Amino acid sequence: MVVELDGKIFFRCNVCNDIHYSAAGPEVCPTCRAKNAYVEVDVSEARIVEGL
Ligand SMILES: [Zn+2]
Repeated sequence: MVVELDGKIFFRCNVCNDIHYSAAGPEVCPTCRAKNAYVEVDVSEARIVEGL
């Protein structure tokens, strides 16, 4: 688990690959409505998924 300086971490929805950046993963994905689909990812993986 990677904790950023502001206490937020990256989460990725394993259904739609949506990246969410907050202190805790959303219970329901705002993009695809999947429940408990968010997994913690580190910054480098988040950048790869987002194509940065
Ligand atoms: Zn999703």
